[in-house]
Amino acid sequence: MKKVAAVFVLAVFVPSLVLAWLALRSLRDQQFLLERQQSSLYQGVADGLARDVQSALADDLNVFAAKLSALLQDAQPADLAANFDERLRQNWPLAQVGFVVAENGELLSPSTRGRPQARSFIENNRRFLANRESAAVYWNQNLGKTPLAANNLAANNPDFGKATAKEDFAANNAAASRSAFAGRPDGSLDKLKQRLGTYNTPRSVIPQQQAPAASEPGSPANSQDTLQAFSKLVPSEAEFRQLIGQAAQGMLARFVDNQLSLLFWCRPASAPNLIFGAQLDLANLKSELGGLLGQLDPALRQSICVALLDDNARPAALSHPFFHANWKRPFVATEIGETLPHWEVAVYLLDPAKLAHSAQTLKVTLGLLIGLLVFAIGSGSWLIVADLNRQLVSARQKTDFVSNVSHELKTPLTSIRMFSELLAEGRVTDPARQRSYLSIIAAETARLTRLINNVLDFARTERGQKRYRFQKCDLLQLVRELTDTYRPHLEAEGFRFQCALPAAPIVVNADRDALAQVVLNLLSNAEKYSGERKEILLRLEQQSAPLPHLELAVLDRGLGVPPGAEEKIFEKFYRAHDALSCGIQGSGLGLTLARQIARAHGGEILYAPREGGGSCFSLRLPAAEPPPQLES
Ligand code: ADP
Repeated sequence: MKKVAAVFVLAVFVPSLVLAWLALRSLRDQQFLLERQQSSLYQGVADGLARDVQSALADDLNVFAAKLSALLQDAQPADLAANFDERLRQNWPLAQVGFVVAENGELLSPSTRGRPQARSFIENNRRFLANRESAAVYWNQNLGKTPLAANNLAANNPDFGKATAKEDFAANNAAASRSAFAGRPDGSLDKLKQRLGTYNTPRSVIPQQQAPAASEPGSPANSQDTLQAFSKLVPSEAEFRQLIGQAAQGMLARFVDNQLSLLFWCRPASAPNLIFGAQLDLANLKSELGGLLGQLDPALRQSICVALLDDNARPAALSHPFFHANWKRPFVATEIGETLPHWEVAVYLLDPAKLAHSAQTLKVTLGLLIGLLVFAIGSGSWLIVADLNRQLVSARQKTDFVSNVSHELKTPLTSIRMFSELLAEGRVTDPARQRSYLSIIAAETARLTRLINNVLDFARTERGQKRYRFQKCDLLQLVRELTDTYRPHLEAEGFRFQCALPAAPIVVNADRDALAQVVLNLLSNAEKYSGERKEILLRLEQQSAPLPHLELAVLDRGLGVPPGAEEKIFEKFYRAHDALSCGIQGSGLGLTLARQIARAHGGEILYAPREGGGSCFSLRLPAAEPPPQLES
């Protein structure tokens, strides 16, 4: 049994506990995991919108080229160049200023006498467009590829490769980005920085959720003190002619007095020596791009606000117009790229506490589930072990029963055979001894009969085939007959056998043989477990409390029932006094049957220790009432 229990505990219980412990440990990281899940979901949203913004700009560039072609169909290039600013603005609301640059860098449009916007455009861009001043352009270092404008430049101008260290950049790209983010600048990076300008350009926002490598569970990665957010864009200086190279069209972004100026340009096939361009109206562009935020999935809308942030981290467009937050600390954000340098698509949680709350709810739910699982495994294990124990005890009891019964059969049979042989051989001539031998044979036969009756009755009861024949009978008369039969045997064994019986008959509706079996079992037990003081008292009386009933008690001065076994002695095969330790034979069925019979008569059989030592077994039967279970 111990071995089975140990195997069970090792194979099932311990692994379950270890699993539960691991599961409980993993609960601690729930908030982090949930944040990760949400951050990758929302990062995807931001990345997608950033791509949408880029393609919207690419579409706008194509629209610009189409508008230009349409205008060129109506007018000669030279004529159009003179009033391109007005013509373009009439046709395309996204244009703030239309400009035309000749091959030699001369600005043909807009006119210096024009509107204030046109004048300030000329002031800010004349030198740049005439190639007398360079402007900052941006490289996307993370992608390891050249930006749109610089691509044109690199593809079309062989000198530019040398001038901008493009090859150096490509070769050092991986090392440079690693070094830059790890804060471990090396020699090649410094060289690159010198040629490209300031390398570690800070981002305009610091997302709460950094890229996975930047924060680990439990690390203070999100604290603003320790966090540095760098832009993926690297600035570089280039002139207009270098930027456009031989390409047909393109866009470039430059900052003039910290103001973003977004320029589209196109070199029409019909006038390759002229470059037509447009400075975009940022207000109109913002409202056009804001339309993209309106397409946010309704499910996401309920939990996040998406903002298009300009280079000063101010919202250019919002998915939720009345939402306010610390714009510089979004949940996640993505830079749009070299087309709109330092602009970001940022995602803010509408209810930041909800995440912690969901994590807490998840923790509690999972904790409860794990607790329930452990409880189920624990109680299941306990039930299995208890059942196993019961089975083993029952198996052992059955084995004991077989050996006890065999012994019980053998002992009287030996006596019967021995005394009957003596009498048969005629060697015993003394009539008194002959009578004594005969009475021993009769007593042993009675004992055998009782044993066999008990075993057969028990077998019948177990199979549900036990039948009682209830009929009116005098209990007093029955008890008298039994005690008269049993008395000689008891007295021969040296017992003082007293009977306290009422004078009047007691009529009951009962199975006479079954009641006789109960009385004989009780008397036989009193004899077996008598010990030194061989005194037996049988008492039959009518009692009135708590309800009127009959009580037949058999009292002895014997060993008594050991404490704790008072109820167990009524279980089948249970023996409180083992044959091995006390040398008392028995089958462990006598009291089981006695109780079954008593209950079948609507009564009960009870044990109580007798005052002054010994046992008192009392059979209680309902008085003068019809039996509850009639013959079935
Ligand atoms: P058994 O065949 O072992 O006597 P029983 O069912 O008649 O089986 O009794 C069950 C157990 O109850 C006995 O083994 C014994 O330990 C205890 N018992 C029964 N009667 C007495 C008694 N009069 N005094 C002490 N113990 C008793």
